[in-house]
Amino acid sequence: MTKPASLIRDPDEGATAWNNARRIVVKIGSALLTDAQTGALKTQWLASLLDDISRLKKTGREVVLVSSGAVAIGRFALGIKGNKFKLEQAQASAAVGQIGLAHAYQQLAQERGLVAAQILLTLANTEERRHYLNARQTLETLLRLNALPVVNENDTVATNEIRYGDNDRLSARVASMVSADCLVLLSDVDGLYTAPPSENPNATRLAIVSEITPEIEAMAGDAGSALSKGGMKTKVEAAKIARGSGCHMVIASGKIENPLAAIADGAACTWFIAPSDPITAKKSWLSGQLEPKGELVVDDGARRALENGKSLLPAGVTEVSGTFDRGDAVIIRANDGHELGRGLSAYAIEDAKQIIGKKSSEITQILGYEGRDELIHRNDMALHRT
Ligand code: GLU
Repeated sequence: MTKPASLIRDPDEGATAWNNARRIVVKIGSALLTDAQTGALKTQWLASLLDDISRLKKTGREVVLVSSGAVAIGRFALGIKGNKFKLEQAQASAAVGQIGLAHAYQQLAQERGLVAAQILLTLANTEERRHYLNARQTLETLLRLNALPVVNENDTVATNEIRYGDNDRLSARVASMVSADCLVLLSDVDGLYTAPPSENPNATRLAIVSEITPEIEAMAGDAGSALSKGGMKTKVEAAKIARGSGCHMVIASGKIENPLAAIADGAACTWFIAPSDPITAKKSWLSGQLEPKGELVVDDGARRALENGKSLLPAGVTEVSGTFDRGDAVIIRANDGHELGRGLSAYAIEDAKQIIGKKSSEITQILGYEGRDELIHRNDMALHRT
């Protein structure tokens, strides 16, 4: 008897996820970046990571780094001792350490012909729609221009109630924001164990997690170290966020040089496999759950382009109605009125009205700012099957 398809698991799911990943977010924990005794940056290790990233970029992958380390570096410069310090001390430390981090990334990227860009986010930037869209647009622009965005939380202004506090969840939000297909959490542990390995010698590492069950959550004992804020708990939280937006996640050891090359070579790690690829997940979310805020009618040429997997350009739109903002869902209709699909508009209705029927090259002149060429990008669109 053959097994139902849902029960057949590919033993190489991790390898497949890695090989298929086009947009990768890599999170580095403080413990990997800095010497716990002196706060000095581990430059040699960081250089090896940048070598990996540079190689990935040469094969057409896009990479976003989420780097911790600001507090860990800064507190030494300020002479703040011990492992437990107050929020304002952490904020002051971050203000100092972030400069050092940014400088190191700039230098190491430059040596490899890459351009590093610093993005400091707060919780509000990832939760409030307008901020979220702006941050996403900046990241997209940087990626399009082949830069290497380096993200951290803006610890200096983020107070307890309004902060992530750990870069595990922040990196998952960033991964979801840019529709990444893989999130790598480089850590001082090489994966999720059935029990905290420091407490239980019989603990075994899980190679693949394809569902976050209560058992999995229970396994996430706190494996955090003194300097990093995250532990296994925040990593499992991160996995939930990532999987929810169709992004695979891997927890792998960053204690070795060239840690990304090691993942490619099949090093020990734990893969959290997302239910489907990000585009499919986003598309099912799009076609199902959203309350569309408006409608666009497209001409026959645009309709054929959409059916061939192209984005929707303003030139092919003949009518627009509703009250939508940038990022809202809209219905796409053919000129006989039937619904072709749904998508997220890159423009608010006032702007969309001005650019429909026009060439994308005219957008800047009409609107006075440089917007996207597409009214709806193909990754932000779900067409109904015909
Ligand atoms: N944002 C903090 C820093 O740069 C780190 C948070 C974490 O360790 O996850 O120091």
